[in-house]
Amino acid sequence: MSKQVIPFNKPFVVGKELFYIAQAVMNGSIAGDGEFTTLCQGWLENNLGCEKALLTHSCTAALEMAAILADVGPGDEVIMPSFTFVSTANAFVLRGAVPVFVDIRDDTLNLDERLVEAAITDKTKAVVAVHYAGQPCDMDVLAQICEKHGLFLIEDAAQAILARDRKRALGTIGHLGCLSFHETKNVISGEGGALLINDPRLVERAEIIWQKGTNRKAFSRGEVSKYTWVDVGSSFLPSELTAAFLYAQLEHGERINKHRRTLYEKYFSLLRPLAADGLFQLPRTLDDKPANAHIFYLLMRSVEERTALIAFLREHGVNAVFHYVPLHDSPAGLRYARSSGQLPITTDVSQRLLRLPLFSDMRSRQVAHVCACIARFFQDKPSSASR
Ligand SMILES: *Cc1c(COP(=O)(O)O)cnc(C)c1O
Repeated sequence: MSKQVIPFNKPFVVGKELFYIAQAVMNGSIAGDGEFTTLCQGWLENNLGCEKALLTHSCTAALEMAAILADVGPGDEVIMPSFTFVSTANAFVLRGAVPVFVDIRDDTLNLDERLVEAAITDKTKAVVAVHYAGQPCDMDVLAQICEKHGLFLIEDAAQAILARDRKRALGTIGHLGCLSFHETKNVISGEGGALLINDPRLVERAEIIWQKGTNRKAFSRGEVSKYTWVDVGSSFLPSELTAAFLYAQLEHGERINKHRRTLYEKYFSLLRPLAADGLFQLPRTLDDKPANAHIFYLLMRSVEERTALIAFLREHGVNAVFHYVPLHDSPAGLRYARSSGQLPITTDVSQRLLRLPLFSDMRSRQVAHVCACIARFFQDKPSSASR
């Protein structure tokens, strides 16, 4: 077996990034909201199907804009999973709101829609649906609940670029959707993100918040005669250098996801026999499709076995990792948030989930090597193999 280390993740460069960056520099202005920003936003609007897309410097920033647009203030509550990245919660805590954690489903590892209504109080303002690994949450049920109770539905689609729920792109279903182009995601720009505005009533205010609380957008369109401070806001937009890099990636997005799906399916078929022996569980999806193949994970039998497999893989030049430390158990989570009921699945999954290497230019033979190492780990452990 090769001695080469297989990293957990590796940023993938499609080819035209530097060419577009050079073009952005030659355009003479590299601040935000220029030609490449417009190109990227148009691409997202056309290919995903949303009313308006605004590029941001991260998904974290897009979530912060969503929290402002949802008018979330001190004491308000926002329902979300605890099994997610910190930014999902932080964006609302920054507005003085209280994240209310609900447990996840044991198949998709997404917010359990059957538990959401019980978490609603008269302070609830919004529900955040996190599409874990690009697998859709049950958006029909969540949308119905939000409609019935007058709540904002916000999608944290950080991991879900070009993933769909039937015909609808994830991020375009709730009132607002947030994408990430961080270098660990499928389509990247180093740091980067986008806010998708699906409710037309929110577009005008979103542009103002995006442009530091000014009406600069309306001014540059000639709709108002002076440019002034009109609302709260911040500098949420990325520079043209980031947008130029991103545009090259977006053009390549479907091909990136197609290759990742091939790798995902290879993992799945090579590991199926071991899973059938009960050594671990493979990802379970609602329709047997890998969505955008953002993450490939195993659910091990115990936290001890997970620790041992990660160490074994490391010895064999394979970097595997785990996540998340559930937010409800974290120091800030204990301080700023609360849970609705017990979160047994969140706690259990966070101890047993192991992520295998998956990156956009990974080779099939690297997947085969990882799978061979996993098989060897279980061979070397007669006690588990004989169970
Ligand atoms: C990556 C990620 C984020 C944060 O994205 P950034 O672009 O790094 O700010 C937020 N939520 C989830 C679920 C993520 O996976």
